[in-house]
Amino acid sequence: MVDVFKKPITADQVKAKGIALGADLVGIADGKAMNAFPPDPRDPRRPSDLSDLDADRVIVLAKRCNSGSTRLARWNDRHKLYNDELALASLEETVLELICWLEECGYPAIAVPPTYVDRGFYRGDPAAHMTTILSLSHAAVEAGLGTLGLNLQLITPQFGPRVLLAAALSSVPVQPDRRMEQTLCLGPSCGRCLKACPGDVVGHWDRDWQNCDRYRSPQGFAHLVEHITRAIEEPDPERQKALVRSEESFNLWQSMLRGSGINTGCRRCQDVCPVGADYTPMLKDALDEIPEATPAKQARLDAMAAAEARGERSSAGQAQTRWIGELSYLKPTP
Ligand code: SF4
Ligand code: SF4
Repeated sequence: MVDVFKKPITADQVKAKGIALGADLVGIADGKAMNAFPPDPRDPRRPSDLSDLDADRVIVLAKRCNSGSTRLARWNDRHKLYNDELALASLEETVLELICWLEECGYPAIAVPPTYVDRGFYRGDPAAHMTTILSLSHAAVEAGLGTLGLNLQLITPQFGPRVLLAAALSSVPVQPDRRMEQTLCLGPSCGRCLKACPGDVVGHWDRDWQNCDRYRSPQGFAHLVEHITRAIEEPDPERQKALVRSEESFNLWQSMLRGSGINTGCRRCQDVCPVGADYTPMLKDALDEIPEATPAKQARLDAMAAAEARGERSSAGQAQTRWIGELSYLKPTP
């Protein structure tokens, strides 16, 4: 009976609406496939964990990072963090508007938080890496928007990894997109993400997420707890007062006002990736040189490339094959 109130809509219409509302890319993933293939089977986070009824489709929206802020090479430049926060806020509004439209068409829908971590996942350790309810990078691959790169960042043909992601769940009966079969990543012989990483946390199709978080969220919860603890434990009253009034306190306060430096942070690995139609015309002249590169980083990349040439793949890489795609760069050119 309820079906009479549902307006028939197509996948193209859903995508066109997302673009009209402000997204730069929109893809649609099959919720059932995502339920069957969680990125980490030891800790599965599936669309069905959010909703039993309204999660047949995961509509993934991407907004590009603006090139002007990408061209700022300092990973913790506060203008960069602020620009990304603006883009994220705009994308969240786009998702909400898309949800309202889907519901006007008769299909209940729900937003997937791009940064919010359920308090049920917190184990009392502020420094421990906590993941979101759904991995939106993996959802974006399932939605045909791109593939995962050497450090497991999403890479898209249009903007490389320079996108922010959000998603909506709905059981709107539209055709899902197909995953890309071939990786977009150029592999260890490129390795620019590893060379540029200020925390040196990039592995072979892997990343040390806990240490990355210190850069991805420089004024985040771990930092806040450390700063407060330092101030509480300072025995000298004058130094204690100075800590409370310090630039660090100011940055934490300002970050909490808007979320920049908390929900946004380092993206140096995204900035320098040469994949993406935007790289050469908009970024190459500013970002080609990588001052953070060292001989030790290069030696690690050479070892990775040699292992791949022998047909060896890291265990982390094997576990992520579905989302990395086939390593087409290893194929001999005809
Ligand atoms: S976000 Fe920053 S710290 Fe994390 S992998 Fe990328 S470059 Fe490294
Ligand atoms: S910088 Fe190079 S190695 Fe890293 S994700 Fe991009 S293409 Fe892959």
